[in-house]
Amino acid sequence: MTQRRQWLSRIALGGLAAWVSPAARAAGPAAAPRADALKLTDEEWRKRLTPEQYRVLRREGTEAPFSSALNGEKRRGTYKCVACDLPLFTSTMKFDSGTGWPSFFEALPGALGFTTDYKLIFPRTEYHCARCGGHHGHVFDDGPRPTGKRYCNNGVCLKFDAEAA
Ligand SMILES: [Zn+2]
Repeated sequence: MTQRRQWLSRIALGGLAAWVSPAARAAGPAAAPRADALKLTDEEWRKRLTPEQYRVLRREGTEAPFSSALNGEKRRGTYKCVACDLPLFTSTMKFDSGTGWPSFFEALPGALGFTTDYKLIFPRTEYHCARCGGHHGHVFDDGPRPTGKRYCNNGVCLKFDAEAA
């Protein structure tokens, strides 16, 4: 085995797991079902959402980077789940990550639920709206201070309510 391959296999076995797990730990135990939980059938979701919203929210899709107008949104206000209106982030939690997706270093308390997915082989912490269960994005541990978190959110899943000036 070359050194490079040894290094890669070590990363695969332990490095990435260690790197991702702090986000999973921060997510804490699964929350109890909310009193205001919104549960719809698949057909009802299809009617309520646009095809792109449905693909991302209900099928864990990912929008194309730099496709959301919310990337450049700098006004003060609240970012809500487009499917159920639950406030997820505020403008003070947003930062420019340069990734092409709206990014936040913090979420409103109780707004999100978390699972671990293995779609890219290594584990990632997926998050979804705590009210309707819609998939919004993934959280990584390479965000800015003070949290070190980067909530990488699909803009198509968000609705921005600007604060009255
Ligand atoms: Zn929602």
